[in-house]
Amino acid sequence: MPELPEVETIARNLATQLPGCQILAVEKLDWERMVETPSLPLFQSTLPGRCVQGVGRRAKWLLLLLDGGWTLALHLRMSGRVGVSGSNPSADRHTHLVLALDDGRRFLGFRDPRKFGRVRLLDAGGFTKLHTAYGPEPLSDQFRPADLAHILSTHHTRLKPLLLNQAVLAGLGNIYVDEALWLAGLHPLRCSTTLTFTEGSHLHAAIRSVLTAAIQRGGSTLRDYRDGYGERGHNQEYFSVYRRTGQPCPRCGTPIERIRVAQRGTHLCPVCQPAAPATHSPIHPSPPHSPHSH
Ligand SMILES: [Zn+2]
Repeated sequence: MPELPEVETIARNLATQLPGCQILAVEKLDWERMVETPSLPLFQSTLPGRCVQGVGRRAKWLLLLLDGGWTLALHLRMSGRVGVSGSNPSADRHTHLVLALDDGRRFLGFRDPRKFGRVRLLDAGGFTKLHTAYGPEPLSDQFRPADLAHILSTHHTRLKPLLLNQAVLAGLGNIYVDEALWLAGLHPLRCSTTLTFTEGSHLHAAIRSVLTAAIQRGGSTLRDYRDGYGERGHNQEYFSVYRRTGQPCPRCGTPIERIRVAQRGTHLCPVCQPAAPATHSPIHPSPPHSPHSH
């Protein structure tokens, strides 16, 4: 499932293609449950004529900022792909939403074989509601180590489910929580209130580090994810622990273990991420290592 780096990559791709475009028509919409809000007639009557003024992201939502105060928000869920093409993708049976752009020679398509993807057309009030439903953006300048320390100290929760909770911190999913906890040397089952401020600061740095590196590599493609140009991401070639069960830890060589936490497969190094709070000097994040096959 696309997480923050994948959605951010698509947003940056579309930001070079869409601003200034006008939506000519809703060319295709054959999966009505895709549109969560507003009603279908309002959705189809509001979009034509709207200009795209910008492209952004909030949590795992891709945002097309339209004129008139409207925002078209798209959530890719499991298998969604969004891209601009020079030919009409309506004939593809897995492309459920197609918007004709400008003079009808370019198209924005939302392809989603598993049909879990969702779309919302939001007015200003709806946008505010979406914005406030999620925790802080981890890559924001306003998100400082003290903010994460506050989150950790006010939630008496194990680290992995806490970091997966979108209302607490936006955008992280299974991949980047596992990678960040490994980089910070923290066990996924540690209770958030047991972390020292130093450990929390390392976690803050680790979260930002794994997300930033993943964006630089165009996101992680496990199966379905493609960027805004239809290209695969490369970050999966750099995973330290995620889906590397039994392979050596890049830091200490111990085989990576897989456990279940909150119904999610969870990958960790049993040496670098001790179950009990570390009593010795904390482990410092290491620089990114070279790619490896797996
Ligand atoms: Zn290790």
